[in-house]
Amino acid sequence: MTLVKKPDGRPAASWGLSARGIPWEYAPAPESTDHIQIRPQYGLFIDNDFAPSRPRATFEVINPATEEPLAQVARASKADVNRAVTAARRAYDTVWSRLPGSERAKYLYRIARIIQERSREFAVVETMNSGKPIKESRDVDVPLAAAHFFYYAGWADKLDYAFPGRRPRALGVVAQVIPWNFPLLMLAWKIAPALAAGNTVVLKPASTTPLTAYLFAEVVRQADLPPGVVNIITGPGEIGMELVRHPDINKIAFTGSTVVGKMIARAVAGSRKKLTLELGGKAANIVFDDAPLDQAIEGIINGIYFNQGEVCCAGSRLFVQESVYEPLLDKLKARLSTLRVGDPLDKNTDVGAINSAGQLAKVAELVQSGIDEGAEIFQPDCVLPDRGFFFRPTLFTGVSQSHRIAQEEIFGPVLSVLTFRTPEEAVEKANNTPYGLSAGVWTEKGSRIFKMVAAMKAGVVWANTFNRFDPTSPFGGYKESGYGREGGIHGLGAYLDLSADGTTGR
Ligand code: NDP
Repeated sequence: MTLVKKPDGRPAASWGLSARGIPWEYAPAPESTDHIQIRPQYGLFIDNDFAPSRPRATFEVINPATEEPLAQVARASKADVNRAVTAARRAYDTVWSRLPGSERAKYLYRIARIIQERSREFAVVETMNSGKPIKESRDVDVPLAAAHFFYYAGWADKLDYAFPGRRPRALGVVAQVIPWNFPLLMLAWKIAPALAAGNTVVLKPASTTPLTAYLFAEVVRQADLPPGVVNIITGPGEIGMELVRHPDINKIAFTGSTVVGKMIARAVAGSRKKLTLELGGKAANIVFDDAPLDQAIEGIINGIYFNQGEVCCAGSRLFVQESVYEPLLDKLKARLSTLRVGDPLDKNTDVGAINSAGQLAKVAELVQSGIDEGAEIFQPDCVLPDRGFFFRPTLFTGVSQSHRIAQEEIFGPVLSVLTFRTPEEAVEKANNTPYGLSAGVWTEKGSRIFKMVAAMKAGVVWANTFNRFDPTSPFGGYKESGYGREGGIHGLGAYLDLSADGTTGR
């Protein structure tokens, strides 16, 4: 495939190739926003009511693709944290812990169905607030969020059979702090198993992306969930820490940066609070010379440019077997040049906006470090929108293991390409990272897949695919990527006391 250049110098990224290789341009295909209603102000969601924070304070939430304001959101105080935890405790003691699992399941099924019914609304709000392409929020985030509620609804009345020899008990009140890269999906990963296990929750979304959490709060009311079972509070990181430190919390689930994860681990050390941490990653995606290259190219692209690379398990380090390095790189550059970067609400967009000005600055700084340290940069010749936090999909060659771009989590659309000769060398290089969240292997040989999977220090290893998620499958890491699992029966166990004496988390 040859690189398509437009005669007038306009973005190649808005072009595609027809089946016969003839270039053609995509017409704009904007998703309508007429059907959604973003309120000018959102209060904290406590006891099924939206109420202002005390004292009254707000902060602004913007659309990262336009930099336009979307809403004012309540900024919780320490007293508000206490109110939310008190509401969750009351709901746990008086209602939720007394309901049979089959009744809890009904609420979860109802929530799942309402998310499906309101999926268009969720997808558009998610895209406007996070910057991710509408085709991703529509086809990945929202359906998977509903699927998590369906899946854990199925477990709610089967806890006694799920863990043979144990007597599972709910933990109590759970504090959940989530990031901005998959706002609704992370909410679902956290809330669905917590409720199925019989806990009540206080959730703090990221400050840049609270809007689908507040839309979810409307779903909670629509589903008639008893007041206090789900509480949502917004505010800066320090409010997350107040929540984590609150003495009446039994379990904490955190997804975010390794730095904050370590702070939380220190804050709860010595307490009986149960903790799961899902932190950063620097995944290796390894392509052997017998891999189907065109299929691998799609996996590499999906691995690092999906969600602008703002994915903890992104395949940000590509290891290519030397004998196929050149053909693979040619194909990769050609494919990169067909990615359409721009308006996240356009259904043809592949790469949307970075979530915040701060994150964009971090990505730009790390890319500059790659150039300064001597790696060779390739970026497609696309024109970025005038406003908004956009960054060109980028790849680096000539990367050495010691470069910052090969070591640090960039959390942006930036790929480092490295090479290897033998499987042993691939394993050694892939494991040369403080992280251990995910990895990918591309090869025709099943035996090699099993050998690589066993040798790779990563919580999740994909073979001949990448970034596949399913509610039935556990997800999580080790080393600096955290501990504990979300998803599947492992994710359910994380919200239960499975000890013999019933004292975990209390
Ligand atoms: P953070 O870890 O700071 O944010 C994640 C969540 O934690 C947010 O809700 C945040 O609130 C909250 N938080 C922040 N500080 C504290 C604290 N001291 N105590 C309790 N909660 C806190 O991630 P950033 O948004 O700063 O992103 C920085 C880097 O982290 C990214 O570049 C990326 O490398 C990594 N990251 C990894 C993620 C993953 O999925 N593993 C997700 C997001 C980021 P608030 O938004 O109000 O600050």
